Amino acid sequence: MPAPGLAVGAGRYAPSPSGDLHLGNLRTALVAWLFARSSGRRFLMRIEDLDRGRDAGAAASQLADLTAIGIDWDGEPVVQTERAEAHAAAIERLDSSGLVYECTCTRKDILAAPTAPHGPPGAYPGTCRDLSETEREVARARIAPRLPALRLRVPAGESTLSFEDRLLGEVVGDIDDFVLRRGDGTVAYNLAVVVDDDAMGIDQIVRGDDLAPSTPRQILLQRLLGLRTPPALEYVHVPLVLGASGARLAKRDGAVTLGDLRREGVSAVDVVQLLAGSLDLLTPGERISSTQLVSRFDPTRLPREPWVYPGR
Ligand code: GLU
Ligand code: ZN
Repeated sequence: MPAPGLAVGAGRYAPSPSGDLHLGNLRTALVAWLFARSSGRRFLMRIEDLDRGRDAGAAASQLADLTAIGIDWDGEPVVQTERAEAHAAAIERLDSSGLVYECTCTRKDILAAPTAPHGPPGAYPGTCRDLSETEREVARARIAPRLPALRLRVPAGESTLSFEDRLLGEVVGDIDDFVLRRGDGTVAYNLAVVVDDDAMGIDQIVRGDDLAPSTPRQILLQRLLGLRTPPALEYVHVPLVLGASGARLAKRDGAVTLGDLRREGVSAVDVVQLLAGSLDLLTPGERISSTQLVSRFDPTRLPREPWVYPGR
């Protein structure tokens, strides 16, 4: 239950600062913002900089682009690399329940190992799961100075999980013993996202549908850590934007960032019209602001298919 005095809940957008946002990212951000604002939620921002270290330049330019298309957020953005203590504490908690083990496998080891009998392709085969302490010491010495990664020991019977997605319907996914912390000490995305969403009071997760396959892993972590989990947490995976070639929108599709488009004379306001049209929220010939979109946003009318950006 939300604490008295707090709004019902919160949505969020969580970009990785790896360059400028393209139309697909901007569209997902707009949908996340519309979901939150039209349901009276707070909307929070999180910079997912675990992989990149601090890339203040890219993050600042992403936030400026979001502002330019009328997206606002409550409070200061949360910076993921500043949350290291909470991430470590969560791993510690799992470890104290016997749910963590060291893995010394290289990518090559994993590819060469026979796959687990029922595991999905590419799943971790469990090589290091049941090593004795002596075997672990040998393995650690073998890879030194590299450090072992940490993996989740997925409890028996928990290796498949389904959830209800607001756009995709029921999604079923397999869960292998995925990485919680890499050998270089970087906390894995799945762990960080679950810990941070919970700490931020997020109860609505709207993001690209490329992340739908990660969601069963994240829900399992929520359960094991005793955090908020569906149905108290809503998932909406938004179909991605494709380029004219039919592949996922990318730089090769031409002007796809706000900066590119601006240089071609397309303003941020024009981009709002383009995105609103792609979400079936615009009548032809109309000009609308993001704020006006909030009152007419209708989640049930959202397109379930990818939007193909025709380019310019
Ligand atoms: N940082 C991720 C990305 O940019 C999104 C993570 C999430 O929304 O859970 O793809
Ligand atoms: Zn291993």
